[in-house]
Amino acid sequence: MTSPENGASPENGAIMENGGIRIPFDNSYARLPERFYVRQEPSRVVAPQLIKINQPLALQLGLDPEALASSEGVEILAGNRIALGSEGIALAYSGHQFGHFVPKLGDGRAILLGEVIDRSGMRRDIQLKGSGRTPFSRNGDGRAALGPVLREYIVSEAMAALGIPTTRSLAAVTTGEMVLRETPLPGAVLTRVASSHIRVGTFQYFAARGDVEAIRLLADTAIARHYPEAASEKQAYGALLDRAISRQAELVAKWMLVGFVHGVMNTDNTSIAGETIDYGPCAFLDAYHPETVFSSIDQQGRYAYGEQPKIAAWNMARFAETLLPLLSGDINTGVASAIESLDAFPTYFSTALVTGLRRKLGFFTERDHDAVLAQDLLNAMAENHADFTLTFRCLCEAANGPGADAGVRRLFENPSDYDSWSRRWRKRLAEEPLDGRNRKAAMEAVNPAYIPRNHRIEAVLSAATEDGDFAPFEALMTVLSKPYQTQKGYEGYADPPRSEQRVYRTFCGT
Ligand code: AMP
Ligand code: MG
Repeated sequence: MTSPENGASPENGAIMENGGIRIPFDNSYARLPERFYVRQEPSRVVAPQLIKINQPLALQLGLDPEALASSEGVEILAGNRIALGSEGIALAYSGHQFGHFVPKLGDGRAILLGEVIDRSGMRRDIQLKGSGRTPFSRNGDGRAALGPVLREYIVSEAMAALGIPTTRSLAAVTTGEMVLRETPLPGAVLTRVASSHIRVGTFQYFAARGDVEAIRLLADTAIARHYPEAASEKQAYGALLDRAISRQAELVAKWMLVGFVHGVMNTDNTSIAGETIDYGPCAFLDAYHPETVFSSIDQQGRYAYGEQPKIAAWNMARFAETLLPLLSGDINTGVASAIESLDAFPTYFSTALVTGLRRKLGFFTERDHDAVLAQDLLNAMAENHADFTLTFRCLCEAANGPGADAGVRRLFENPSDYDSWSRRWRKRLAEEPLDGRNRKAAMEAVNPAYIPRNHRIEAVLSAATEDGDFAPFEALMTVLSKPYQTQKGYEGYADPPRSEQRVYRTFCGT
């Protein structure tokens, strides 16, 4: 947002109705046929108050953070005012939720305000989440509670700082209203920014209705927005599928490398652009174990940490099914082509995973045995309840030599398990060209000191919700903005929870 220049007029863009603020919206999704969405403006709230504007992100979007933080800006971010040029829409989509197909989901508590072109020429969606009921709300109130809004703000921005593709958080405001969950909770609205909100579930919505024309339009939109190079390939839709599959595989590998558990990998929460989307009951591992599940609603462990690659591949198979009519005029040829694309998922995933593990272990050359060595460490960590993040962070120091092992050893219940692994690791390190100091720096650049640990998040959420105290939120955001740098005065944020602080369950809060 910038202040309107002299002579700026509604025709050349978007001045807010009552003066002041301009958002240069260009709404391509709202130009798609009406069956893609429902036109819907946000519902008003009583007394919006700003929690936070994401300054660097605002600037990247070409918006003025001060204008956003002004009382007019906050009214827009709360849904009380409509910026000129904004065409509010709630998007239609379906989805497999925990394996069960729901033909009609859609934005039940979110409204896409519009799209802007950012400083790097990328089209980005600006969406309000928690902005009131829409025709897709079913029994929901269309609102969001403060806790889940802060959780999404914290974790999405932490993911971005870690270098993991994700939707972003531009702003959070409180509404001055209570929302009724198990108890009454303060309400809030998040402003989410995404490369797009096209999901696997969006394709499924039209496939379920046999609407091949809409699938083709949506596929063309996805290609234009996310995979423009696919357009010039002989089989553009096959190329779209291939690219979406490789991005998804690489995304999940990145999650695995930082111990992230998404928690609700439903197909409606799977972005075609390959961004992490929908931060509900998500959480990071403290102690490593592949079967870790946090979400209170995931009783079967469908979305456990170690299941994520398999589930992502399953979700991509659901995507491929929707594209069958576009892949070939002949169904058998289409199926064969889809299967060939899907068969590549495990290779994309394991390549990305092993490449990442090598760097985490300080290997910059490749040896066949590296994957086994990495897996043996993970197995030992699981048996010894070793903290995932700290183990790798302390390995950076340990890479200097056997004298620097104390930090890692103490993370293992039985330190000799680490010792026997580290002898093999050191032998392998001896084959690497980098000297100890450079290796440590290179390893620290991929092994974060700080992740949004669950007990820290819980502490932030309860301070904000119970006491209206946002200082812990600000402190956590400061730490997480530079996850790879040890920060003076914030060392405790790297620590795992003490046993009484440990969080075993997380909740969607919807
Ligand atoms: P999620 O689990 O957040 O991915 O949401 C799944 C579906 O439930 C989506 O269609 C949401 O729009 C809808 N939904 C979630 N919470 C609410 C709410 N409070 N009011 C209306 N719809 C909701
Ligand atoms: Mg969702």
